[in-house]
Amino acid sequence: MLLRVNMIRMTMKTVTREYICDACGQQHKVQLPEDLASRHTQFPFAYFYLHGDAKDVLSTLYLDADLKIRGAETQRLETDLDDIFSKGQMLSIVQNLMNEIERWRRDYEDLKKKYDEVIK
Ligand SMILES: [Zn+2]
Repeated sequence: MLLRVNMIRMTMKTVTREYICDACGQQHKVQLPEDLASRHTQFPFAYFYLHGDAKDVLSTLYLDADLKIRGAETQRLETDLDDIFSKGQMLSIVQNLMNEIERWRRDYEDLKKKYDEVIK
């Protein structure tokens, strides 16, 4: 199962983007899934990138429809968070929630469109 996941990851097409990180003072290269923008309808959208030796630097990248980085905010996470969730888990939870919110927003717009048509 794990091998399968790894193979999917390897064959997933990605694009590489670079940005200067305030916290590290370095240029980072971030690999993004090529189809990432197609999961969003509003731009720019937020993408979270966790890095650093202790995985304690969180960059929020604002990406446009071409996956160009329009802005970046960086913050160091408190290490106390380890007590509840690992940072990776937390990040994945946040990312999933953001995707859910985006999906709800899309559903709402679809419904509103249908409603407007019925009202006409
Ligand atoms: Zn950094």
